[in-house]
Amino acid sequence: MTNWTRRQICSMAGGVLAAAAAPHVARSQNKPRVVVIGGGIGGATVARYLGDLKTMDVTLIEPKRRYVTCFFSNLYLAGLRSLPSLTFDFEALTERHDVKVIHQAATVIDAGTKTVTLRDSVMLAYDRLVVAPGIAFKSGEIRNYDASAAEIMPHAWNAGPQSELLRRQLESMEDGGVFVIVAPPNPFRCPPAPYERASLVAYYFKQFKPRSKILILDAKDRFSGQELFQEAWGRHYPGMIEWLPRQFTGAVKIVDVAARSVVTEGETFKAAVANIIPAQKAGAIAEKTGLTDTSGWCPVDPVTFESTLQRGIHVVGDSIIGGDMPKSAFSTNSQAKACAFAIAASLTGSPQFPSHLFNSCYTFLAPDDAFTNAITFAPEGGKIKMVETFISKVGESAEVRRRTAHQAVGWYSAFTADVFGEGS
Ligand SMILES: Cc1cc2nc3c(=O)[nH]c(=O)nc-3n(C[C@H](O)[C@H](O)[C@H](O)COP(=O)(O)OP(=O)(O)OC[C@H]3O[C@@H](n4cnc5c(N)ncnc54)[C@H](O)[C@@H]3O)c2cc1C
Repeated sequence: MTNWTRRQICSMAGGVLAAAAAPHVARSQNKPRVVVIGGGIGGATVARYLGDLKTMDVTLIEPKRRYVTCFFSNLYLAGLRSLPSLTFDFEALTERHDVKVIHQAATVIDAGTKTVTLRDSVMLAYDRLVVAPGIAFKSGEIRNYDASAAEIMPHAWNAGPQSELLRRQLESMEDGGVFVIVAPPNPFRCPPAPYERASLVAYYFKQFKPRSKILILDAKDRFSGQELFQEAWGRHYPGMIEWLPRQFTGAVKIVDVAARSVVTEGETFKAAVANIIPAQKAGAIAEKTGLTDTSGWCPVDPVTFESTLQRGIHVVGDSIIGGDMPKSAFSTNSQAKACAFAIAASLTGSPQFPSHLFNSCYTFLAPDDAFTNAITFAPEGGKIKMVETFISKVGESAEVRRRTAHQAVGWYSAFTADVFGEGS
């Protein structure tokens, strides 16, 4: 994990923000102000690393008091991890890293006056704004799938109550039932995760509901880590997982919530439990602020992560168009550190370092069988390009895979301590 060494910032930009004229605008202190929207992986990392410098006034806006990580939530679904073990609060950021945390949603960003309005009408002025709202779901791509349908057919693509709902449904499912996973089109949050979910739920079924089946109805014809997954499915769960690509089904078009069935171009599939992972786009506040282009995602400068559409606003994490970088927590954390460096340089005159962009993911096939990848990236021609890559191979020994699974557990602890500031 890259660690940003704390350093004294010698010069401070003279630009102390004059608070906007409205009487309820929170007044500036004698430091440049950074407001960060979204206290997930991207927002918490930026806030923590800027807070550590102590040269800026850093405010993090996040409605939830507790954040549950999506990574490792598939282990929770399989009964291999508890939800509390995946849950973090924001106290360390406040107490150890000089971040002011406000538990509210941001409702309006005004790039002209450089203000953010919160749900309770409080207005905050900023010198630099970071927007890290994660993903939203595209509506209308699967007919009848909306927020109320998600209470019956969960997506569990934001961890927390949705994960608990899906776990309860899997626990109460009869042996012999069919668990249908509807996998989304590219690009989406964590490309291997629908297939990791299939693997770990299969592990649970193998022990407790061995006659059950898993059917993946995919909106794609290929998926990330396909050879590694398919080899492992044959080895660990023969005959239990069936994957149907788009070319065979035309993809899922409609859900029938009452009948708990999903409908493709030519067929209806009845589910005992249905997990619908819809097509995705940038978080709602990004779209509302004009930070997204026609793709539904946010174009950014690959060095500073400043929006190319709205100057003075940076975007990190799953909301951006990341070029070759996948939408993952590791990528997000690495982008957030590069973004923090760039903001410090611009507001306080500290040196601008070249951005080091990485991704490394651990993916579980069974509790003691995991594969990994490690990729470096660099900005090139205004985009983020892959430089070097390592990925586990089909046919690795059981011992190598066991070690990788063990390393994944260590990674989780170190990574979350880095993001939420619970380490040093
Ligand atoms: C099942 C699954 C498994 C995964 N496994 C891995 C893995 O093994 N490794 C890995 O690297 N990645 C993994 N990921 C991906 C990882 O979880 C995401 O890439 C990461 O969370 C993205 O961070 P983010 O900050 O962009 O979004 P998030 O972490 O989702 O944070 C966004 C935050 O913004 C807040 N927010 C939204 N709108 C507003 C607003 N208007 N005002 C204030 N706050 C707002 C939200 O409440 C949320 O807390 C997995 C994802 C899933 C679904």
